[in-house]
Amino acid sequence: MGERTYQIEHDDFLITYDPSAGTVSEMKGATVVALERKNPCYGPRKADISHASPMGTFRPNCLTIYGNHQCNLRCDYCYASDKRSMPQKDITTAAVQAAAEFVAAHCRKTGRPFVLGFHGGNEPLLSRGLVEDSIACCKTVADEHELQMLSFCTTNGVVDRATAEWAARTFHGITLSWDGSQATHDKHRRDLNNRPTFETVKRTAEVFRKMNVPQVTIRVTVTRDSVNQLCESIRYFRELGFDNVQVYPVFPNGRGGPDKEVAVDQADFVFNFLKARTWARGRNMKLLFSGTRWDDYHDRFCMLNQDNLTITPDGFITACFLATHNYEEENDRYMYGRYDESSNELCIDWEKLRRLSESVHRTNPQCDNCYNQFHCAKNCPSICPLSELELESEFDCTIFKWIGLANIIEATGHVVDINTREECMDYFKSVRITSVPKNNGNERISHNN
Ligand code: SF4
Ligand code: SF4
Repeated sequence: MGERTYQIEHDDFLITYDPSAGTVSEMKGATVVALERKNPCYGPRKADISHASPMGTFRPNCLTIYGNHQCNLRCDYCYASDKRSMPQKDITTAAVQAAAEFVAAHCRKTGRPFVLGFHGGNEPLLSRGLVEDSIACCKTVADEHELQMLSFCTTNGVVDRATAEWAARTFHGITLSWDGSQATHDKHRRDLNNRPTFETVKRTAEVFRKMNVPQVTIRVTVTRDSVNQLCESIRYFRELGFDNVQVYPVFPNGRGGPDKEVAVDQADFVFNFLKARTWARGRNMKLLFSGTRWDDYHDRFCMLNQDNLTITPDGFITACFLATHNYEEENDRYMYGRYDESSNELCIDWEKLRRLSESVHRTNPQCDNCYNQFHCAKNCPSICPLSELELESEFDCTIFKWIGLANIIEATGHVVDINTREECMDYFKSVRITSVPKNNGNERISHNN
């Protein structure tokens, strides 16, 4: 993967995108408009994990705790549906403390706040005592290191009012899973007794809003049957006073995902997402597809890419958000350490960490040279570089590609104005993309879109 500049051409514009300089320029006649990206940078953080020193340059400032496997919902698309057969043990305070010490030491070195998160294949707010104890433990560690601590939680919102109020008082930020209208939400997100959950989630959301949680993010999972209501859902959230929404198409199959019945048609998703985002932007509302984020330089969702140390209920340190346990070594390939009871320490397998880090930065052949590679989750988790077979396979990444292209085009001030799914397909297919290496302007190649 060398440094390239991209020329993006349509009847209405001619754009030059230079990822290494962090600029997008529109060139029309004599006019040149150059816009700087917010976080200009280039190249994956390959050097972040050094094998030379045991501590290396792996500097997690965030500790994510997967406390246990308890959940009160049975969402039909849940990626962690195997949690039902999991041991119901909680993570131990000793393991939390060891992980907190590790993260705090790095926060102190880098001068960053200690960020604490709760989520992962469970519903954290069902275990209020465990969460309170973990927060208290981490706060003590953070105080000892003279660090600010910020705590975050992801919840399904199906909790009683008192718990919702406690969460609102406790967390700096909360991500609430809520799929939109009552019919859409209740179709997929039902409780253990198959009862609908929309009304309870709505009540919890109202508590969060009224009690002014500093950051509330609504997280919408989009399925085949809800994709055409995406714009309505965004309007609905806006009416209720929420202005920060993240959407993601349901993870298709593999590793505990749903069957193909609920998977979203890619063009449907792009069309509805862009329509909703245009509406949201006009109202100062933030609508994000985390698979392709223009304002961030990012890659796959691996914890190693996010300075995030994530510990599972059974005390393993996991590199993958989908690998929430390792009871029978079934997820061993994602684990690079564990809490050791006998020494009361967090033991990191540095050699494995180095290998994992190298692996998760491997590029799929079809991503090589792609204009979107610096802002793309690269079809994670469907395609995982820890699987040779998956990494080498071809895959359909229309959602990532087209939203990435829309981000570049809209950075110049153009609006991608489309009214139907068919218009959406015609529009993106008619954009012509070519690139040249920065050090050799003669090797121009065309990119399929
Ligand atoms: S790339 Fe693989 S290891 Fe990384 S988050 Fe995705 S599925 Fe997990
Ligand atoms: S848009 Fe597709 S080809 Fe490009 S980086 Fe993303 S997954 Fe790879």
